[in-house]
Amino acid sequence: MPRKIVIAGNWKMNKTRAEAADLIKPVVAAVGNRNEIGVVVATPFTVLETVGNLIGNASVALAAQNMSDKASGAFTGETSAAMLRDLHVSHVLAGHSERRSLFGETDAAVNKKVLAALENNLKPILCVGETLAERDAGKTLDVNKTQTLAGLEGVTAAQVEQVIVAYEPVWAIGTGKTATPEMAQEVHAFIRKVLAGKYGDTVAQKIRILYGGSMKPDNADALLAQPDIDGGLIGGASLVAKDFLALVESGFKAQATRE
Ligand code: PEP
Repeated sequence: MPRKIVIAGNWKMNKTRAEAADLIKPVVAAVGNRNEIGVVVATPFTVLETVGNLIGNASVALAAQNMSDKASGAFTGETSAAMLRDLHVSHVLAGHSERRSLFGETDAAVNKKVLAALENNLKPILCVGETLAERDAGKTLDVNKTQTLAGLEGVTAAQVEQVIVAYEPVWAIGTGKTATPEMAQEVHAFIRKVLAGKYGDTVAQKIRILYGGSMKPDNADALLAQPDIDGGLIGGASLVAKDFLALVESGFKAQATRE
């Protein structure tokens, strides 16, 4: 069975309810019940309900951008897995580089979120990736191995098929600089090898590894043609319906060549 491509938008801290409605409506209309690929939108908490209601039964999955690893209680400003499930959220980003660099999330903290998500039937999208300094120092593979293994500490082989990994070179996020398809493929294949070392090759072959970092309609086809690139996590281009839908179409096209 070929892996099912996932095209996921990360809206970051953008969109009021009215703006979110304007963005999701054409996406829902275009995707409808086509489910050859997975289409996911990670919205701010404040518009999850609005967007979820507009998605209805369409084949668009709703994701949160962050989550507490705690179940409930005195954690001011935090949001639990149960609260997300209550809003029909199915996926959650874990360890996006902005959470790591701006909010001090460590590998250990990211791991707790991954485990809490899985315990609550949410699919984590575990984000990993090297900074420019790390790439220049020749540490790209080491950094991605460490972040992948640390993020998956305690995750069983049965659980890991629910996890999506997103390789996002930090130097390519929001910068307009994209890893070349060959550069990205090298790291994706390496991450799959790391996953195979931990879970065995059969399981590793089932795990989706998305690319993130200035993916746009004009570079998506070449990236998605790589054998270990199973989709995209898209920031900037997911904020414009026309661009996001072009990426979704690239996903459908790439999936068709995998069948
Ligand atoms: C992201 O936020 O995960 C991302 C990849 O952003 P952009 O597409 O804007 O680089």
